[in-house]
Amino acid sequence: MSNLGDKTWVYSFDEVKGANTQEWIFKLGNKGAQLAEMTESNLPVPQGFTITTEACNQFYEEGKVWPSGLEEQIKKKLEKLEKQMDKKLGGEEKPLFLSVRSGSYVSMPGMMDTVLNLGMNDKTVEIFAKQTGNERAAYDSYRRFITMFGDVVMDVKHALFEEILDKAKETKGVSDDTGLDAEDLKALIPQYKELVKKEAGKDFPQDSWAQLELAINAVFNSWNIPRAVSYRRINHLRNDAGTGVNVQAMVFGNMGETSGTGVSFTRNPANGAKEHYGEFLINAQGEDVVAGIRTPRPVDELKNVLPEVYEELLKIYDTLENHYKDLQDFEFTIENKKLYLLQTRNGKRTAQAAIKIAVDMEKEGLLSKKEAILKIKPEQLDQLLHKQFDEKAKKENKAITTGLPASPGAAVGKAVFTAEKARELWEANNEKLILVRTETSPEDIEGMNAAQGILTARGGMTSHAAVVARGMGKCCVAGAGDIKVNEKEGVFTIGDLKIKDGDWISLDGSTGEVFNGQIPLVEPEMHGDFETLMEWADEFRTLKIKTNADTPKDAKIALDFGAEGIGLVRTEHMFFEGERIKAVREMILSESLEGRKIALAKLLPFQKQDFAGIFGVMDKLPVVIRLLDPPLHEFLPKEEKDMKELATEMNISVEKIKEIADSLHEFNPMLGFRGCRLGMVYPEINEMQVQAIFEAALEEIGKGVTPLPWIEVPLVGHLKEFLKIKELIQKVAKDTGAEGKVDFKIGTMIEVPRAALTADEIAKEADFLSFGTNDLTQMTCGFSRDDAAKFLKPYVDDLGVYQKDPFQSIDQSGVGLLMQLCVEKARKAKKDIEIGICGEHGGDPESVEFCHRIGLNDVSCSPYRIPIARLAAAQAAIKYKK
Ligand code: PEP
Ligand code: MG
Repeated sequence: MSNLGDKTWVYSFDEVKGANTQEWIFKLGNKGAQLAEMTESNLPVPQGFTITTEACNQFYEEGKVWPSGLEEQIKKKLEKLEKQMDKKLGGEEKPLFLSVRSGSYVSMPGMMDTVLNLGMNDKTVEIFAKQTGNERAAYDSYRRFITMFGDVVMDVKHALFEEILDKAKETKGVSDDTGLDAEDLKALIPQYKELVKKEAGKDFPQDSWAQLELAINAVFNSWNIPRAVSYRRINHLRNDAGTGVNVQAMVFGNMGETSGTGVSFTRNPANGAKEHYGEFLINAQGEDVVAGIRTPRPVDELKNVLPEVYEELLKIYDTLENHYKDLQDFEFTIENKKLYLLQTRNGKRTAQAAIKIAVDMEKEGLLSKKEAILKIKPEQLDQLLHKQFDEKAKKENKAITTGLPASPGAAVGKAVFTAEKARELWEANNEKLILVRTETSPEDIEGMNAAQGILTARGGMTSHAAVVARGMGKCCVAGAGDIKVNEKEGVFTIGDLKIKDGDWISLDGSTGEVFNGQIPLVEPEMHGDFETLMEWADEFRTLKIKTNADTPKDAKIALDFGAEGIGLVRTEHMFFEGERIKAVREMILSESLEGRKIALAKLLPFQKQDFAGIFGVMDKLPVVIRLLDPPLHEFLPKEEKDMKELATEMNISVEKIKEIADSLHEFNPMLGFRGCRLGMVYPEINEMQVQAIFEAALEEIGKGVTPLPWIEVPLVGHLKEFLKIKELIQKVAKDTGAEGKVDFKIGTMIEVPRAALTADEIAKEADFLSFGTNDLTQMTCGFSRDDAAKFLKPYVDDLGVYQKDPFQSIDQSGVGLLMQLCVEKARKAKKDIEIGICGEHGGDPESVEFCHRIGLNDVSCSPYRIPIARLAAAQAAIKYKK
């Protein structure tokens, strides 16, 4: 504590060099780092200073008081700013006005608080009016300041200020704020102050330093307001990062017809096209554009309004991209024809845009191939692998209205009008919903997350709904101006048409069309830039990507996505269909070896047919086939009626079935009689499966196919288990004549910690190992994969025990350590042994990176995650190139 006063809590923008690094971004927040970086690049940024995220954390640490040294440092930097601007905060000659903004290590759009126009009071407003000769702008800024400060700092509801404003507009007979003149705005001030006094029990502060202190505290506090906490949870952001506070000289976009404000992207963030993309408003302040209150104009129209400023803006697009080598999303303000950049950040974009921009930038020479690959978040590809409307079905339907195509993809769901209800319905029944709002606000984040898509009546392409939906990869149609939404009554209308709460609607986020009813969805296709990106990824990755697939159909889908083999065929999935389940049940219910063999013989042709189909699709590619794994009771009927049916079929009593089912009952079946333990006790089951594999392979060879079966033993914990089943496999190879003809391997899953710990012994005997991280996680962490959900959610969301669900992303410091040890031991015993992973983690980008780091040969995941794994593997190879 004692030396905290020596710590640097505050940096002027022009003091930091090379701020675009992880370290500075953590310290200053992304916005602060970018303001310093822009200042260094001579971009026209209003000057200011940043209070570090460390100061925010220390503020919390000390029970919401400023750490020692902070006040002095702020005062010093403020003095410097006052000199730079030749103005003074609260000054009676040349008053300085400030913006106070939040900013964490990643941008959390609209989630935390901002105060603009700070420094306004009864005196400075008049000086400002005199100096600018614009009384209207002065009082407009003052009333905005009281509103924002009242709302953010003094807890007076924004809507109450709006009520007073609406009344003033009504009295005057105007619909827009701009219809109010200086006198009208001036008349609002005493009413606003009275409102503050009534609601907050305190006067609105006139002292500018007090205003600044309170605003800084409000920004610190906004780190932990519910919507910010929700946003971090949904986006897996760090809770301990804190927010920076950026205090910056204000520039005024509301000074009249030669002033304005806008938001722009250097390219189109929806489809990636290289075009000017953005919106502006003349005579307005920043929040007017994003709040969707007035409908902004496309940025290119600025050419007609303020041509010199437009020319400058064009240069800024290039400067920003050349400097950041990425799509930039920036805010600008024009004060009396002078252009200022208020902030820039890497723009959120759809997956489609991310790919096009990365590929285009490589072609333009802005990025190398490796850099282009690293620009795309693998999870984002998921959006492209999502469904679209069936074009034919879509053509048969006429759109009821069209809004802005704010975030692509298609969504079908029941209309819901509040974020809370969306969340409730989704959590209760997983319902498919479309959240319909006049406009969204950051409070709606949970509802947006719960919905399939979002429809708003107001707001542009950079409105809150659009930005957040794109970030979430969610379909969104914004600014559908024809619809009138009544959230309270749960209905929206387009002319005479009424859509009520619970009615189905469909959205096309790529065209902005809205349809009544449900339009069928189809699977997406990959081509063009996507293919180019995948080809590049394949040039760099060293991990092979396989798939988990149980049918020829899934195997084919996986092959089309680029699978290089099958990493796991779960044979039990084949046992449930039609006639097979009967034979499986017959086998289980047989009390003699003889009986079991008769039943297994019935299964054999089905299994052969399954394997032959898969070998046919996966010609010349390895197919890892796992022998039967689940506990047998899973195959028995649970309902009385099904038991009766089975009893009649098998000519035994229902009681007998119940007795056998009871005898198979286990308290913890996942740790019970399953995996290789079944094959140890009933070798005839494995024998039939292996016979089917070899006979199918031989038949396929006869057709000119080259099957490469890798036979896999599940749930091995002890070498002796593996040896016994390996012996059986080799015997069947001999008996079926496959030996010498079929190119096969014998390996095992690593799912039991004991197997990982004794991997050296097992590796000597096995051709390959494959981590079954679903089971390995449950057995290492000691919680059941079926029951953990109940407490894992609070463990991750609230208690922070795990940063992510360990069943989704490998628990690297626990389960991962065991995997690492296993790989080391196995490779020591057999240098070239093939080691892969086939648990669900195989499609999780962070886990893929981990698998690369510990030296696995391949990862296997579900077909739709293959492109994600390909990209993640390439990124890992680039990042960790030796
Ligand atoms: C695993 O345990 O990770 C695995 C792939 O097997 P299953 O999920 O079928 O138990
Ligand atoms: Mg398993």
